[in-house]
Amino acid sequence: MMPMDQKVNFYSFTLEDLQEYLKKYGKEKFRAQQIYKWVYESRVTNIEEMSNLSKDLRAELKNLISFEMPPVLKHLVSVDGTQKFLFDVKDGNTVEAVVIPSDDRLTLCISSEIGCNMACKFCFTGKQKLKRRLTADEIVGQFMQVHDSLQKEGLGRRISNIVFMGMGEPLDNSDEVFKSIDVIHSPWGINLSLKKITVSTSGIIPEMYKVANAKVRLAVSLNAYNDEVRSQVMPINKKYPLKDLLEECKRYYRATGEKITMEYVLLKGITDQIEHARQVVKLLKDVPCKINIIPFNEHPGSDYERPSDETVQAFHTEAMRLGAQVLLRRTMGRDIFAACGQLATKIDHPERMDISNSKIGGTHVRSFSHRQPSI
Ligand code: SF4
Repeated sequence: MMPMDQKVNFYSFTLEDLQEYLKKYGKEKFRAQQIYKWVYESRVTNIEEMSNLSKDLRAELKNLISFEMPPVLKHLVSVDGTQKFLFDVKDGNTVEAVVIPSDDRLTLCISSEIGCNMACKFCFTGKQKLKRRLTADEIVGQFMQVHDSLQKEGLGRRISNIVFMGMGEPLDNSDEVFKSIDVIHSPWGINLSLKKITVSTSGIIPEMYKVANAKVRLAVSLNAYNDEVRSQVMPINKKYPLKDLLEECKRYYRATGEKITMEYVLLKGITDQIEHARQVVKLLKDVPCKINIIPFNEHPGSDYERPSDETVQAFHTEAMRLGAQVLLRRTMGRDIFAACGQLATKIDHPERMDISNSKIGGTHVRSFSHRQPSI
């Protein structure tokens, strides 16, 4: 019998990993598929209940596999239906995930790191240095906890899309992120289409080919119309400037045929002027993409201000007039600090803010974490 501390967390296994792991203990390959189906399809994690496994195998498995998910410390629901989950990821650390409902989809925005070293100036997470990269089981665990919570609500809605736009830079933790995508996509697992999965990056160019290889959607946090402004709001731009970043985006398009989503945060007086709209459209003229406009969302101690609805509208209108594909959706989850740029590693902001006097409902902006989803 194996000592307990050698158990491996089931949620860290791709199907192939589980097959390999069981093989080490002399078990048949198909057992991995059986267990995958019990866990992901039937949500059975009590090995005793896995009735198509022999009694002896069940007894052995209990010493080989555990089924831990990050516990939910808090679950907040916004006035607009957005839900925010705060997870305990050990050693006093927390991460957040956000569920955004819309008519035709239910999008989960998921975190990949505790804190973030990219230090984007408009982002609350960026103010909190990287403490640790999440493991694949912690990423998959966020998904399953939210999935289970939605099932308990009994409304019959399932997560239809995932965006890696929560806390952390996904491509700074690419091994674990792509492993979790393998699990989430597996037909024997969660079985989510690759087209429904989006990885967002601040522009870690050497890792971007992995997004194309994984055949998932790419979103790029652009947020500026030239290198000078981008380096000011996103220090990563000093290392990976716009010219190289946009070349890499074109490579992604050539490899996948999928348009890139460019996320563009409107910072009052810095990136929100009509002239800026013209420059962004010019900058992106050769890049097959759509632009998601995100009016800045306040967070405690933020250096920037949110533009007026009129300014946002004028930016949108000008970019469209120039022929760009521009999305402007309704901001969601702002009252529970679940909107773009508001996620934190600790409960160090108030749980709710009063938005009764703010005009967040007037536009078509749907934003939730540090970057805007492509969907
Ligand atoms: S926007 Fe993303 S990459 Fe930039 S600091 Fe925030 S979490 Fe990190």
